[in-house]
Amino acid sequence: MSNLEDFLTSKEEEEIVEAIRIAECDTSGEIRVHIERNCNIDVYERALDVFHILKMDNTKQQNGVLIYVAVDNKSFVIFGDHGINNIVGTDFWNSTRDKIASQFKVGNFKQGIIDGVTEAGKALSKHFPWEHGDHDELDNTISKA
Ligand code: CA
Ligand code: CA
Repeated sequence: MSNLEDFLTSKEEEEIVEAIRIAECDTSGEIRVHIERNCNIDVYERALDVFHILKMDNTKQQNGVLIYVAVDNKSFVIFGDHGINNIVGTDFWNSTRDKIASQFKVGNFKQGIIDGVTEAGKALSKHFPWEHGDHDELDNTISKA
């Protein structure tokens, strides 16, 4: 999988964006997916950079969650801002990461990302339920480098 365009079809991308939209209906939290071809530094460091570049560290309740994928590195990171991170703890991130990884391992990239979005959405809705007046702080579209 060396081509970013081959990673997900446009239909699959639409399904992911729709999963984000649905997840965000139940929470004030914000979920984003960023996909890029390769990463020359530590993927976790790069995910933090992307988190910042996408202004995901700027949500009102610090409840942004990023799924970062470096296609050529066959690597990904799921990362949450302080608000959500302080509540859910490491076990949540690890189990969500494992869910994504099990789909990625068999080439189901769309499903892996959707599973990650859904899991993040569940945790966010539990701790940051949607309230009247919430708005879409961050675009739901897939960000690509
Ligand atoms: Ca929102
Ligand atoms: Ca959003």
